[in-house]
Amino acid sequence: MKKTEKQKENKIRPGMQVEFICPKCGTHLAWALPEMEMNCPKCGNWVNNQNRKKPKLDLLLPTDDDQLTLF
Ligand SMILES: [Zn+2]
Repeated sequence: MKKTEKQKENKIRPGMQVEFICPKCGTHLAWALPEMEMNCPKCGNWVNNQNRKKPKLDLLLPTDDDQLTLF
């Protein structure tokens, strides 16, 4: 299904990806769904939505849209 959104809501909705950043070493891991958990290749730390390091501007990325609003 295709959605056209002009306005980004700062709220996690189903199907939205968040940026996973290691809270220990600050390594950017990937964009993934909030329920995912991933292992940092640098320090071996497990990063999930609870402990991930959040950027100042915590952006969300729709899974059907690979366009970043940052940068
Ligand atoms: Zn790390």
